[in-house]
Amino acid sequence: MSTTMKEIVEAIEARAGADVIQGLELPKTCRAVTTHKADVEMFAGMPSAQKDPRKSLHIDEVPLPALGPGEAYVAVMASAINFNTVWTSIFEPLPTFAFLERNGKRSELWKRHDLPYHIVGSDASGVVLRVGPGVSKWKPGDRVVIHCNDVDLEEPEGHDDAMLDPNQMIWGFETNFGGLAEIATVKSNQLMPKPEHLTWEEAACNGLVNSTAYRQLVSKNGAGMKQGDNVLIWGASGGLGGYATQYALNGGAFPVGVVSSEHRVEIVRALGCPRVIDRRAEGYQFWEGDKIHWKEIRRFGKKIRELTGGEDPDIVYEHPGRQTFAASVFVARRGGVIVTCASTSGYEHVYDNRYLWMHLKRIIGSHFANYREAWEANRLICKGAIHPTLSRSFPLEQTGEAAWQVHQNLHDGKIGVLCLAPSEGLGVLNSELRERYIDRIELYKRLGAVR
Ligand code: NAP
Repeated sequence: MSTTMKEIVEAIEARAGADVIQGLELPKTCRAVTTHKADVEMFAGMPSAQKDPRKSLHIDEVPLPALGPGEAYVAVMASAINFNTVWTSIFEPLPTFAFLERNGKRSELWKRHDLPYHIVGSDASGVVLRVGPGVSKWKPGDRVVIHCNDVDLEEPEGHDDAMLDPNQMIWGFETNFGGLAEIATVKSNQLMPKPEHLTWEEAACNGLVNSTAYRQLVSKNGAGMKQGDNVLIWGASGGLGGYATQYALNGGAFPVGVVSSEHRVEIVRALGCPRVIDRRAEGYQFWEGDKIHWKEIRRFGKKIRELTGGEDPDIVYEHPGRQTFAASVFVARRGGVIVTCASTSGYEHVYDNRYLWMHLKRIIGSHFANYREAWEANRLICKGAIHPTLSRSFPLEQTGEAAWQVHQNLHDGKIGVLCLAPSEGLGVLNSELRERYIDRIELYKRLGAVR
């Protein structure tokens, strides 16, 4: 760590005010996790599962970009691994340099992003170091978490819902200068207050998945879940699912979680959801070669009814994609909703459309969240109504290993990454609130598999 970086951390730990932080000379460079344009063909021809983020994610010393209007530099205390960093690191479904090149043509400011390296990462907690021209809501010294919706709002389409803006981007995935770095560059309308009862790494792991789950399940822009709904949640202990399960329970719905191991069943039960299916123990095979295995899908539907007293899901919370989608469409109740935000196992979905139209079901596409939705999701974390699902953290140097674990589905909930935070457990300002919810805050650390 350079002397200046050390001074920044000391000032943060001493909770220095705006004047002191503003008075610190910022370093010209910082360490960051990158992919390299020169590497994009390195895994050509390999099956996805063998593509190894430990080989493609680098730690580089990179220059800070010039700070533009409406932007802020944030000293990143901690970040987290999201599946989008896995996609970037395995160059699938396409190298994210394509986004940087396309954006680079938009304006002088966007040109900064088109570089031969991509600083990845779409989550962070930390402290504002500087704000650019036009920023009045935030100041140096503010303790923040960052959501990853990057939008200029220059087009009319985004003004009812920023996710509909044609230039909407995911920060650290479709843009450069992401959160897996010592200093991140963000738009000021990505900043939200850091939950005071959480450590830096607990606070950093929520932004992307918590906001996505909120929009996808709760918001009127998603499934608009209501009390009493049966909600089938794939990967119910995972990155998205661990929050979707909490939202379903908080909102008076009846979640049915699907997971793939005994200890994940235990996690979902500990979250308060007694209805859990262990898909591995049940041995479901929804596909036989390139044909859907309907008998297996019916067996799955029957299992759900056993857990719900004979009812079918009002909402299916989808993200695994190709391998589960036919089952998701089939098991939703008449008039039910399949809400999807991803296709982890393949994006060319196959399902029998008769089950959709004859039973008046709807498929809804959902993607991240607008600022309002992300803010509301973060507010629930701040109040202790939704809790982080952090199971463990890695130092910045081991980001490749952390991403590998997510790629291989070895992790539970979220994996954090310490960037400037010298150790875990720092950054808590509200110990009283923390104590009240300590069992829930540390649930994944207690029950998650340690690898
Ligand atoms: P995650 O932490 O890996 O959790 C996903 C869970 O899905 C896993 O824990 C696994 O649970 C389950 N799963 C994986 N493959 C499956 C399969 N073939 N069949 C059934 N279940 C399967 O990842 P995540 O953070 O939740 O993200 C999931 C996907 O959503 C990724 O593709 C990610 O890129 C995408 N995503 C999209 C958005 C958006 O805004 N559009 C936001 C966040 C994430 P079990 O093995 O225990 O069943």
